[in-house]
Amino acid sequence: MLCHSSEELMAFVKEARSAAKEGKVAEYIPALAKANPNSLSIAIFYPDGKCISAGDIDKKMTLQSISKVISLALVLMDRGEKEVFSRVGMEPTGDPFHSIGKLETMSPAKPLNPMINAGALVVTHLLKGKSVEDRLQPLLSFIREMAGDNRIDYSEEVALSEYQSSFLNRALAYFLRQHGVIQEDVEELIDLYTKQCAIEMNCLELARIGMVFAMDGLDPMRGKQLMPPKVARICKTFMVTCGMYNASGEFAIKVGIPAKSGVSGGIMGAVPNTFGIGIFGPALNEKGNSAAGTKLLELLSKTYRLSMF
Ligand code: GLU
Repeated sequence: MLCHSSEELMAFVKEARSAAKEGKVAEYIPALAKANPNSLSIAIFYPDGKCISAGDIDKKMTLQSISKVISLALVLMDRGEKEVFSRVGMEPTGDPFHSIGKLETMSPAKPLNPMINAGALVVTHLLKGKSVEDRLQPLLSFIREMAGDNRIDYSEEVALSEYQSSFLNRALAYFLRQHGVIQEDVEELIDLYTKQCAIEMNCLELARIGMVFAMDGLDPMRGKQLMPPKVARICKTFMVTCGMYNASGEFAIKVGIPAKSGVSGGIMGAVPNTFGIGIFGPALNEKGNSAAGTKLLELLSKTYRLSMF
């Protein structure tokens, strides 16, 4: 049994919206603090092109950490598993996404996984090209293709706002550079990383990307394999083990689908072989996940038995 109409979805949005009160919008990136905490939208994209949605669906969000899954997919295609996993690990940390603690206890200083900031910085470092723009373009093209919209771009305002306030990410990057895990200029890497995080879209486009992951990299509507199934499988596994920050275990129990969240309040879900989900609800709970978005997924999972476990 699956959710089949936007009206059905709207009832869940109404119920979940009250959970936004328990959350707060992210303020450490000043531009994100402007979001309306009560806003909530969701889209579900099916492999046959059908899409149902509810809430403030025209609102755009920046991908933030959701971009980490997509840059990982691209870098795995460009560089191969061996090179990527020689620099970043495969284990969840149980720590907040920007924690520096475990890095210091690792020898070599290899970040534990690509979903925490330290690991994501290493993955972004592996994007090929000479200049920042050169390296961003293939990522943007990949995202545009998956989302089915050529107009997708990054928000200059959010990118600049994060670039100017990214002290912790700079600290992580300098640490990684000191230990030879990355080699490039830290300012350039932060410039590229903050632009990657500021790529902007609505929940319909996000749901379409989730659908491509759900279908193991296939865009069924165009009959095009956008990434090898193995790459999609690796990404979805990271989404399960560390996609919802240090609440991934609880999320696996209560919802049970591969998902990745971002501090903008976005969540991308990929229900294997079934559909993709895009959610935007900017008020975050104490672990950094969209409070209303998480509630919404719990309701949907329970009602439609979405858990893969
Ligand atoms: N751009 C954000 C940062 O690095 C991404 C964090 C997130 O969404 O979890 O702080």
